[in-house]
Amino acid sequence: MSTAFPVPAPRAGAPRVVVVGGGVLGASTAAHLARAGARVDLVTEAEVASGASGRSLSWLNSAGARTDAYHLLRTVGIDRYRTFLARTGLGDRVRFDGGLTWAGPGESHKERHAHELSIGYDSVWLSPGEVAAWTPGVDAAAIAQEGAVFNPGEGWVDLPLLVDALLGQLRAAGGEVHTGTGRAVPLVTGGRATGVRTASGRTFPADAVVLATGPGVPRDLAGLGVHVPDSSPVSLLLETRPLEHPLRAVLNTPRVALRPTPRGTFVLDSGWSEEEVVVHAEGEYEVRGSTVEGLLAEASRVLAGNPRLEVARRGVGRKPIPGDGEPVAGALPEVVGLHVLFTHSGATLGLVLGEFTAREVLGERVPLLEPFRPQRFATAGS
Ligand SMILES: Cc1cc2nc3c(=O)[nH]c(=O)nc-3n(C[C@H](O)[C@H](O)[C@H](O)COP(=O)(O)OP(=O)(O)OC[C@H]3O[C@@H](n4cnc5c(N)ncnc54)[C@H](O)[C@@H]3O)c2cc1C
Repeated sequence: MSTAFPVPAPRAGAPRVVVVGGGVLGASTAAHLARAGARVDLVTEAEVASGASGRSLSWLNSAGARTDAYHLLRTVGIDRYRTFLARTGLGDRVRFDGGLTWAGPGESHKERHAHELSIGYDSVWLSPGEVAAWTPGVDAAAIAQEGAVFNPGEGWVDLPLLVDALLGQLRAAGGEVHTGTGRAVPLVTGGRATGVRTASGRTFPADAVVLATGPGVPRDLAGLGVHVPDSSPVSLLLETRPLEHPLRAVLNTPRVALRPTPRGTFVLDSGWSEEEVVVHAEGEYEVRGSTVEGLLAEASRVLAGNPRLEVARRGVGRKPIPGDGEPVAGALPEVVGLHVLFTHSGATLGLVLGEFTAREVLGERVPLLEPFRPQRFATAGS
């Protein structure tokens, strides 16, 4: 595979950085660091993309209303995917075929559409009968009578394939990937991060450490006496068996969200099915057959031709969401040299947060990260 980004010459005295976590944020940060000349080890407890990044809907978007700073970060995040696509040509893993959404009974998306137009976010209002002319594969009868919002600039990414490409860049730039290490913890000496120790007992010395352990971040920081509020819910993603179907856009409908994959399958999730997952203990989940059948039926209902869908894979586990819903990104004031990444919408933000974090580890201060620094929680609590 072509890396499509220049590989640096090894630099004497380049900083040594350990990135903990083999999801999209860890892989992206590690690749950006290595491309900038750092000596990088990526350490992850199991296989790469075995956490949230392996079971994500991965809709690339900044739809709806949110803070200006978060909207800007997300649109910059989407822009980086367009560059990635142009430079790598990896159109099997990143697509921009648009997103379609409509409201549930008793609700309306008219205000959302007006807001999107007001901030320049590409947004088109369509009657049910107009949808097919913009995007194929949707059952017009399932669309809300008032119509739907189509966002032509949105898309999706296959995160495991993206992680694979990023780790290819990391290795090409001299970095190393260590899988199956068991849980790793940052080592702190005299208030400074000095490396990482894994459950298997191996130590990786470092000048800086990046903690990108997805929903594990609040737990890992608590071990260092740092509190970051956590709202990570248990989530469920289903992947169907392959089928021939014309759907190209990401659909966000009242009862199901879904998108195509590079494998000719669909992935699906929803809020109600997520709530039906039974949690026996941390990491021990039960998914009822009725939940799976119900979600497949909801997906079939919105697809043109109402195809029979069969489940091939279910991904269940926690979805990283910080307590205030906004990304947590930046250096920890409590531990010099320890940087943290914990966010919802980590698919949309995967490339840009990796790039910005790498720049900060190497000494820059990135203005777009100011609103998202972890110390906002210390300020709130004091
Ligand atoms: C169902 C679902 C739908 C989603 N939909 C969207 C969407 O539409 N759009 C969007 O932008 N985002 C979406 N997201 C969010 C996005 O997928 C995540 O924000 C992103 O994948 C998080 O990546 P990460 O690298 O932070 O974490 P992860 O992918 O969880 O990776 C963390 C890795 O660290 C490892 N690890 C954990 N603790 C340790 C430790 N102590 N030592 C060593 N290794 C450790 C884990 O095993 C894991 O492999 C969705 C997520 C889910 C689950």
